[in-house]
Amino acid sequence: MSEPHVVVVGGGLAGIAAALACADAGARVNLLEARPRLGGATWSSQRDGLWIDNGQHVFLRCCTAYREFVRRLGVEEKLRLQSRLALPVIAPGGRTHWLRRAGLPVPLHLAASLARFAHLGAAQRMRIARTVWRIGRLDLEDPALDERSFGAWLAEQGECEASIARFWDLLIRPTVNVSAADASLALATKVFQTGLLEAAGNADIGWSRVPLQELHGDAGARALEQAGVALRLRARVTSVELSSQGARVACADGTRVAGDALILAAPHEATAALLPAAAGLNAGDLRKLGRSPIVNLHVVYDRRVTDFELAAGIGSPVEWIFDRSASAGLEAGQYLAITLSAADAYTGVRVEELRRRFLPEIARLLPRARAARVLRFLVTCEPAATFHQLPGTRRARPGARTSAPGLYLAGAWTDTGWPATMESAVRSGRAAAGCALRDAGRTRGLPAEAA
Ligand SMILES: Cc1cc2nc3c(=O)[nH]c(=O)nc-3n(C[C@H](O)[C@H](O)[C@H](O)COP(=O)(O)OP(=O)(O)OC[C@H]3O[C@@H](n4cnc5c(N)ncnc54)[C@H](O)[C@@H]3O)c2cc1C
Repeated sequence: MSEPHVVVVGGGLAGIAAALACADAGARVNLLEARPRLGGATWSSQRDGLWIDNGQHVFLRCCTAYREFVRRLGVEEKLRLQSRLALPVIAPGGRTHWLRRAGLPVPLHLAASLARFAHLGAAQRMRIARTVWRIGRLDLEDPALDERSFGAWLAEQGECEASIARFWDLLIRPTVNVSAADASLALATKVFQTGLLEAAGNADIGWSRVPLQELHGDAGARALEQAGVALRLRARVTSVELSSQGARVACADGTRVAGDALILAAPHEATAALLPAAAGLNAGDLRKLGRSPIVNLHVVYDRRVTDFELAAGIGSPVEWIFDRSASAGLEAGQYLAITLSAADAYTGVRVEELRRRFLPEIARLLPRARAARVLRFLVTCEPAATFHQLPGTRRARPGARTSAPGLYLAGAWTDTGWPATMESAVRSGRAAAGCALRDAGRTRGLPAEAA
């Protein structure tokens, strides 16, 4: 049997993962990416000698496909993964209580830490422990879970506003990119069951020690080249044609590329614009997945203002704080990235206004910042960081296969069961590759996600 020829559109994590999985299984692969770089929603830029990521990206130990992907790119040593979850949670004034994992099995691994989590009262902590236990009993396969909001369900469990703001939001906003009140119950359940309840180490936090561009984009390009993938950057696909011979795409510069199979690994809105009718999907339904923004504030101080590598804020608009000094190449002072998820309230707000609002808030959490001079204050805003992960979105997330033979979908937004994360992106790419390879008659070297 001759080698199948697969065309992949989109060079984010989903597209890179799909292309590598196909090439590793012996397929001939073309990857077309609209931008001048790979990495998609994970990218960096250099500003006056400082490497700035478009937004801090973290993963958890349970993100096994993403970690395997980074290993495949040959840059695993550029990740930092906590040996045990240790998250300082800071309230205004600097009062800090830790969420830490003990060396005990689930569910005792977090019990001691939660019992001492003095940002909440004893009754609230007891209720949270009971609610987490109840989350563990929810059936993720039950479609009804996705029809409800996590907030409505939490209210039924008797969770009060303070617990939602100080505990549930702390974990749901960064993972699902909506408030705990608004999130789909199914996605919130996935976060807690997989992250906190399946294995003790699953919630250990990891992040990149280098700029994202180096970790994903540059390493991705090297790995693709070594795997024999024909990569074209600045190749925006404008239309897709299917025939009994396979698929053909046209690019904005007039060139065309044809293959036996096509994997569309673009964001859902771009995919909606490219989908041929034969795919059997309604482009309007895909667009209804909506978008949710993430804003990052990048603050360079003239001195160190915290010894924490990362921290979460409560009772403050400052959500998560990351020390990016070393990864950005800063030699003196300290560079903090402040991540604001579900950041609708901040998109379109002028940089000066964000600076005026946030610098005092950071200093309320990190008192040493009061005496420090701010050397730089930059803002990155991603208006469509993820789809809007509300109730009812699961049925709008298509799987890897479409009704059209030879046409497959990938992307963090497709139906992986995971929130729209790097893990979801990699899983989706591998799943689409698996389907394309299997349909082309391959039975060996298929990714584990192949359906
Ligand atoms: C600021 C920010 C912070 C985030 N934080 C986290 C985090 O902490 N942890 C986490 O796990 N996830 C996080 N995410 C989400 C994560 O980055 C994404 O879910 C993931 O990277 C999406 O990958 P993807 O390949 O599915 O899509 P994308 O990365 O969007 O890639 C799609 C690619 O398709 C290309 N494309 C689009 N149209 C065309 C076309 N017509 N022709 C050719 N190419 C096209 C695009 O240029 C893009 O490169 C964050 C996202 C953002 C923006």
